Amino acid sequence: MTTSQTIDEPGGKVPVAAEADLVVVGGGPAGISAAVAGARNGLSVILLERYAYLGGLASGGMVLVLDDMCNGPEVTVRGLCTELIDRMTKMGLCVTPPEADWISDDVKFQQWARWGVYNFHSHEKPQPICYASAFDPDGFKRASNDMIAEAGVNLRMHSWFSRAIVEDGAVKGVICDTKAGRQAVLGKITIDATGDLDVAASAGAAYSHGNFIVTTVFRLGGVDTDAAERFEYEEPDAFAIVDREAKRIMGGSWERWWLKTPLPGIVWCNCPHMAGLDGTSVEDLTKADFKGRERIAALVAYIRGKVPGFENAFVVDVAPQIGVRTSRLLEGAYVMSKEDVASRRHFSDSVARGRDYYYPYRSLLPKDVSQLLVAGRHYSSTAAAQRISREIPPCMAMGEATGIAAAVALDQGVTVDKVDIARVQRLLREQGADPGDQPAANASFSIAAE
Ligand SMILES: Cc1cc2nc3c(=O)[nH]c(=O)nc-3n(C[C@H](O)[C@H](O)[C@H](O)COP(=O)(O)OP(=O)(O)OC[C@H]3O[C@@H](n4cnc5c(N)ncnc54)[C@H](O)[C@@H]3O)c2cc1C
Repeated sequence: MTTSQTIDEPGGKVPVAAEADLVVVGGGPAGISAAVAGARNGLSVILLERYAYLGGLASGGMVLVLDDMCNGPEVTVRGLCTELIDRMTKMGLCVTPPEADWISDDVKFQQWARWGVYNFHSHEKPQPICYASAFDPDGFKRASNDMIAEAGVNLRMHSWFSRAIVEDGAVKGVICDTKAGRQAVLGKITIDATGDLDVAASAGAAYSHGNFIVTTVFRLGGVDTDAAERFEYEEPDAFAIVDREAKRIMGGSWERWWLKTPLPGIVWCNCPHMAGLDGTSVEDLTKADFKGRERIAALVAYIRGKVPGFENAFVVDVAPQIGVRTSRLLEGAYVMSKEDVASRRHFSDSVARGRDYYYPYRSLLPKDVSQLLVAGRHYSSTAAAQRISREIPPCMAMGEATGIAAAVALDQGVTVDKVDIARVQRLLREQGADPGDQPAANASFSIAAE
């Protein structure tokens, strides 16, 4: 809770630290893709990140499964996301089930469920194994570094976005807080990839405030995953009792509270979940760290004594970033509804896909601020829609689309709201992405949504 007191801040001059065609704020999945796509399409690009690494929630939040990349057997997220998967796989730090295993089958489910690579949204039993990848957080950071460096992006870490520079309704760049003081970074186009809509909100764009569970993800080492899986499948009744108790101690988790990682004996735990916390509140984020660690300690004390496979388990690390799924959401040129996502509504200006649904370019476009695009989990949607459409791969797809849209806008000499969408779609396709311009057989259509 903040007080009602205020103080005046001194004005003054801020040095311009850097200038480029495109400024991307936030080096998470969406921002990495936006920066790489912009640079590969001929733009000078600056990428600003507050922390000491790239990857956002995928690395710092230790969210270690790339979900939502297919519509049945059809792969829907490609492009830079696939490239990142290939790079991590070459490092031995990414595991993806082979296509032959993408079926609903009891044996395959037992083999892959603890990798978290099944279709969580399917009503089939068992849920089908699908195109999804389990990866290592340092692998994500290293592969991202390589892609950013090879593309020639000017990466400025340790730069906290503070304020948007807006002139006559157009974003001209941003001010960052750094160890060297406040710095201005200027660009012809800016992409907000902060996940919390920091730039667009500061620039005066309309937004709503979503709220969902917050999670302190952690990793355990010393786990005998074979023994744990044997116990789960060979002694289901005994397993159900201890699993229920583990979840009670944590006070909130998904069905499978631990999942395998490419590192032997190390599992990631997408828990404990905490409700009612605001992802932009200093007080709430601080509370989440304390509360989360308390629950993790209690859980570890329990499982070491009770759960086969976890006798020697220890905490490797608690994610340095609190797992905030939702905070500010853009109210842009089009606001995606839950029905749009659930009914797989196709849009003629679709520029990105996730699972079986489509993102119109208008959902990445603020309606009341110029020369600004957004990409990632804060895209223009209702909270209910965002809840089922915010995974890492589609965030990367949105980023890629905005990076290319920025390049097309500057080449055409038009503002980002006037960009030639067909050309953006064509470039995305030529560069290996799926913009969703060609609707799948199970897409739905509505003229009202256009
Ligand atoms: C606990 C949890 C579990 C999840 N599970 C899954 C899963 O299993 N699979 C899946 O695919 N998705 C999952 N998700 C969703 C997914 O992780 C996110 O939606 C996705 O990472 C969003 O990517 P993004 O680039 O939009 O934002 P983020 O990943 O949040 O990245 C934003 C980046 O911007 C930077 N930034 C923020 N503010 C500033 C600032 N002021 N100045 C400078 N830099 C800034 C951040 O440091 C970060 O690097 C999960 C999310 C959470 C929280």
